[in-house]
Amino acid sequence: MTTGALTADGRARILNDGNQIPLLGLGVWQMSDGRECIDAVRWALEFGYRHIDTAQAYGNEESVGTALLASGVPRDDVFLTTKFFPRNRDPVAALEQSLRRLRVDHVDLYIIHWPEGGATWAWPGMERARELGYARSVGVSNFSATQLEEVIGAGSIPPAVNQVQFSSLHYRRALLEACQRRGVTLEAYSPLGTGRHLANQTVRQVAQRLGRTPAQVLVRWCVQRDVPVIPKSTHRQRIEENADIFSFHLSDEDMLELDALDETDGTDRALEHAWW
Ligand code: NDP
Repeated sequence: MTTGALTADGRARILNDGNQIPLLGLGVWQMSDGRECIDAVRWALEFGYRHIDTAQAYGNEESVGTALLASGVPRDDVFLTTKFFPRNRDPVAALEQSLRRLRVDHVDLYIIHWPEGGATWAWPGMERARELGYARSVGVSNFSATQLEEVIGAGSIPPAVNQVQFSSLHYRRALLEACQRRGVTLEAYSPLGTGRHLANQTVRQVAQRLGRTPAQVLVRWCVQRDVPVIPKSTHRQRIEENADIFSFHLSDEDMLELDALDETDGTDRALEHAWW
């Protein structure tokens, strides 16, 4: 198996540690703990999602665990991500608490949520979490190309994933290339611009031409770049709609038109402004 390649069914990507990440996942940021999050995860699993993205900072790991247990979908069939909240000091202790809330014995991916306090200090703890079997893969989020180099230089293993804000309107081409050069899988968060990109005229025109929705076009744009992507919705019908992205294709012209929407100037940075 080649790192960065897709699996035979084209639905998952092979990470640099040999594990596989499904290209489509459900993001659960800004879902309240309880019924809203439980329902969304339950519906997603029903519609075939096998990848859920939560975080210690989201305050809804318990609901993700409840939905997973209730779904009847075997634990091993679901790729579960959580993120280390970097205002805590110890990634291992924080993950032990996440596992308790999620009611699982490991997560599939554990990532540093953002590089607060520097790119490298938390990495030894992340590696330790992996050695202990608490996380199958470990990675980072919101890391620029420079920060990625720093953590790779400092660690015994490289991050498997760098999860960043990425879409046709935030097409961080140089960051994508930096990840590719280092065998790190770039994963796209906010693929719909937290909803804002859905009104974009070009996105709407491409969608209309193809008889698809703007959300499907934006998610498909990521998938067609072999980039794992985690759209969020709390609505059953939208969760279903966002998953129907393997039955159509964007032409080279469509892709070029969408690529041209980039507002980041092809940057190698993960964010225009840090929030920490
Ligand atoms: P998205 O870009 O996925 O957009 C979600 C918004 O779009 C919501 O308002 C949702 O509304 C709406 N929406 C979703 N599908 C449709 C549809 N088919 N039609 C119309 N509206 C739709 O937002 P996020 O910023 O939440 O990013 C996705 C995930 O990425 C997060 O949930 C989180 O898991 C991850 N993330 C990670 C970050 C990090 O720092 N690592 C930062 C930000 C996000 P509604 O829910 O009402 O349906």
